[in-house]
Amino acid sequence: MRGKTMPDPRQAIIDTCLRMNAEGLNQGTSGNVSSRAEGGMLITPSGIPYERLSPEEIVFVRNDGTWEGGIKPSSEWRMHLDIYGTREEAGAVVHVHSTYATGLSCLRRGIPAFHYMVAVAGGPDIRCADYATFGTAELSEAMVAALDGRIACLLANHGQIAFGPSLEKALWLAGEVETLARQLSVAEGFGPPVILPDAEMDRVLALFADYGKQPERG
Ligand code: 13P
Ligand code: ZN
Repeated sequence: MRGKTMPDPRQAIIDTCLRMNAEGLNQGTSGNVSSRAEGGMLITPSGIPYERLSPEEIVFVRNDGTWEGGIKPSSEWRMHLDIYGTREEAGAVVHVHSTYATGLSCLRRGIPAFHYMVAVAGGPDIRCADYATFGTAELSEAMVAALDGRIACLLANHGQIAFGPSLEKALWLAGEVETLARQLSVAEGFGPPVILPDAEMDRVLALFADYGKQPERG
């Protein structure tokens, strides 16, 4: 980090929200963002436009699901908290209603191995979680099942959710999932795409284990 001051974690969440909307990955007050914190997580409040958010409005939700202060956390706080509770590698979570991923989720279809980059989410496909009403424990349970062995999934008739060690990585992954959904839409416009066999995806997953890790950069 050499002399770099760490950004305020609350401001880092707001910056991520602004980026996800500016990059066209999300719109309006849809979606939500969180990062792991000591004893719980920091998460966006429910329904407040991101351009108007101030750091004090980011809500601290404890591991037991109670929160600090009078501002309500995102209606999807359970999905975020359940990711931190079940996946120790998770440092940040991004949920968005990105157009192509959401469109595909309305068919209740995941993303098959039509392109090798599907492996960025950790396996040979990106699943679509079963449908449940937004903000419910049932939706969170369906999400946890769809995330088994994966770091992103679609949410039926809703959108997508991705996590990573940092806000930057989680946002990047949500962008990759959206790009894949868009490419799948294009490929299917030409005809049924050829799906890569499991053995090839195993090879790609093994290559991904150290892809992009340059000496000196980690
Ligand atoms: P919140 O504004 O409560 O975070 O809700 C947005 C959303 O995407 C619900 O699924
Ligand atoms: Zn949502």
